[in-house]
Amino acid sequence: MTQPLEPGRFFLPGPTEVHPDVLAAQTGPMIGHRGQAIQDLFASIEAGLKPVFQTERPVIVSTSSASGLMEAAVRNAVIDGKVLSLVNGAFSGRFAKIAASCGFEVDRFDVEWGQVHDPQAVAERLDTGGYDAVTLSHSETSTGALQDLEAIAGVVRASDETLLLVDSVTGIGGAETRTDDWGIDFILTGSQKALALPPGLAFGVANEAMLERSAKAPAKGWYFDLVDLHDQISMHQTPATPAVSLLYALDHQLKRMAEETMEGRWQRHAGMQARTFEWVDEMRQRGHDVAVFAAEGHRSPTVSCIAIEQPGRVVSELFSRGWVVGGGYGKIEDTTFRIGHMGDHTLGELNELLDVITAVMA
Ligand SMILES: *Cc1c(COP(=O)(O)O)cnc(C)c1O
Repeated sequence: MTQPLEPGRFFLPGPTEVHPDVLAAQTGPMIGHRGQAIQDLFASIEAGLKPVFQTERPVIVSTSSASGLMEAAVRNAVIDGKVLSLVNGAFSGRFAKIAASCGFEVDRFDVEWGQVHDPQAVAERLDTGGYDAVTLSHSETSTGALQDLEAIAGVVRASDETLLLVDSVTGIGGAETRTDDWGIDFILTGSQKALALPPGLAFGVANEAMLERSAKAPAKGWYFDLVDLHDQISMHQTPATPAVSLLYALDHQLKRMAEETMEGRWQRHAGMQARTFEWVDEMRQRGHDVAVFAAEGHRSPTVSCIAIEQPGRVVSELFSRGWVVGGGYGKIEDTTFRIGHMGDHTLGELNELLDVITAVMA
């Protein structure tokens, strides 16, 4: 087995570092997936998840990775219309691929990697009509770009026929996200990113419009039927056996998150993001050819993609010193690396990491 790293050194943009107490919580005893014990557990989890999503609605808990709920999103939202996929990186591109692989007609709206979509341009596309759904990645983990979710939700809401499906896998839990206030039809995340849990669970919130559409969706399948998932979680149950051990970890982590408050969490992430940009400026002043990849003003507080020469050397040199960051992803693999400053990481840990990167680059 590989040697465990010292705590505070694992900055992969997913899976992220998990607190030892959260890991330990997984060793609770097995309980059946029907009955009072699991219902009590789900009741406690529900109370913790609502503020995370800023919703009053039930939060669906799926035993799958986040991609499972991305597939659920399109299969429940699309009947006979088209899908408009906003693509600005690898994960938003995956959302388009998932929709196409389900047999739906997909119009890709591509902008350059590192950029985000102009809400007005999205509105113009929607004006042409015929779209059952829009897909997007809130925080594009391959580039570190953050879509203006509130504004895009506003333009999609103006269209009666079109539902907004949001992959917020590296958004929720780190970036301010207001599901109810922003009128998002379906939003999902996974356990192993900004929530700092082990991989294996995904979470989503479907509004009434989404559930009405789902009720009519002809080929949504059984496992990812959002009406069923929604109805059952409303009664603190799931249709199929949930990953009980992960639920224990989730319940524990949600209590830790409640202590910090969501506002506190958003601020901590914003602070780590600001420090990363400051460090990039410092390195540039020292003559290094380094830059933040995503467009200024449209950057995610959870992950920074850094353009640099020979990123592979930096990543492997860090690893040999006992630190993990993410390599570049997709077509920018050879020109960037990524720092996942999300989950439970602190500014202090980030500063230590940046000092080590500085030394590696010297
Ligand atoms: C990690 C990630 C995914 C995929 O999540 P899985 O849990 O691996 O299925 C999708 N979208 C974004 C933005 C991600 O960061």
